[in-house]
Amino acid sequence: MIQAVKPIYNNRIPNKEYVTATIIHEIIHGYFKIEYGLASSDPWDHGEMAGNDYFNKMKYALKEVFPNLSETDAQALVWIGLQDTDKYKDKPLSEKNAIEYIAMNYRVGLSGTKCN
Ligand SMILES: [Zn+2]
Repeated sequence: MIQAVKPIYNNRIPNKEYVTATIIHEIIHGYFKIEYGLASSDPWDHGEMAGNDYFNKMKYALKEVFPNLSETDAQALVWIGLQDTDKYKDKPLSEKNAIEYIAMNYRVGLSGTKCN
């Protein structure tokens, strides 16, 4: 399905919420690198981010920048960077589909605040 609509997506720019979620995600990677050095790797980092402590911190950071962002959308934007974690993979398919649908709409600029 994603394959079929790819040409349309290619012309679209992610909205600010998606970009900000990505930046927050990368900042946490940077923090882990400083804190844990070489022991830090993507699978390990993502496992930590999927834990309630960091997950909530990332979600609140996003909601601080976008106060009108719904809880569901904020969670989806954090989860979309953590799809390789067991915690994500263990979710019911319907929930994963909902998360991916919400995040994709921000990714292609259909939901959220346009970058100008
Ligand atoms: Zn990452």
